[in-house]
Amino acid sequence: MIARSEFLKLAVASTIGTGGLDVWDPTSPQIRVLVAADVRGETPRVYADGTFGFAGKRWRGAPSTVGMPDGRMALVTTIDVDAYLQGVVPLESPPSWPTAALQAQAIVARTFALARRSLSRPWDVQAGDSDQQWGGVDAEHPAATAAIQTCRGRTLTYGGGLASVFYSSCCGGHTADVAAVWNGAPLPYLRGVADPYCAAAPEYRWSRAVPLERAVAAFGARTGGTLTGTFLTQPDATGRPRGVALLGATSTTVPVADFRRALGYDVVRSLWLRSVRIDAAQPAPRLLIEGAGRGHGVGLCQWGTKFFAAGGAGAAEILAFYFPGTTLTNG
Ligand SMILES: [Zn+2]
Repeated sequence: MIARSEFLKLAVASTIGTGGLDVWDPTSPQIRVLVAADVRGETPRVYADGTFGFAGKRWRGAPSTVGMPDGRMALVTTIDVDAYLQGVVPLESPPSWPTAALQAQAIVARTFALARRSLSRPWDVQAGDSDQQWGGVDAEHPAATAAIQTCRGRTLTYGGGLASVFYSSCCGGHTADVAAVWNGAPLPYLRGVADPYCAAAPEYRWSRAVPLERAVAAFGARTGGTLTGTFLTQPDATGRPRGVALLGATSTTVPVADFRRALGYDVVRSLWLRSVRIDAAQPAPRLLIEGAGRGHGVGLCQWGTKFFAAGGAGAAEILAFYFPGTTLTNG
């Protein structure tokens, strides 16, 4: 592993003359993005316009290979955070959405990325679901790029440091409390707010059915091999039940996050369950699941942001609503 200071010096030096990142701009710091955890023998092709090709896509920044602790060689690119955001924002918020929604998305994504800067890893963020989707040059769109430029350098802070920010597709009408979702320390600006803006979102309310035998396969070891009844446990202050009680030969209560993981994120769309019940009237019994919102629900609600912005709100107003008590820097 290369010390961060050495790595940055190398990376900055290697970009000079490529037409890429040859100026250190303090208002738009650089970050290191993990493009691939294993290059599998592929070498990035650097093009004259400063982009590079790898794994069939075009990317920005200065690529370098880095040895991982497991012995594989990873590909990391050192990149101006706003150049990186150009390939993030369009994947998270459709470019047809109002400019203020794109700006709010950009500020949250910038804050997230900069807060992930690490001294202990040779990269800061991963270009995938575990951090933020980054699609490189192919994902970019002029509307998103323009929105990013108009809020260049702006971040959310709290207590003098970068705020710990999250976002998800639709909160279902009340954002979640970070401490309840991830059992972490409570943060005053992530306790959850009632959101009147996302009610027209496509997954504000949803329902799914799965064969009962699939639920028995997932949870039967804890219910004696059968599933005869279910109920939701007491909701937290945001309205989200903390667990699903599963009744069988023996009974158990499963945290909602575990319930979601076991049945799949495509089935259980969010952590806000409104009803879980067995439908035994069918020839093949089913488990009926109803819920609210899409995603974990913590922090900024993307669909709420869209409708909030369409009603005339600016990015600052939107961010103050979803992250109350934080400060939006001037960049
Ligand atoms: Zn919402």
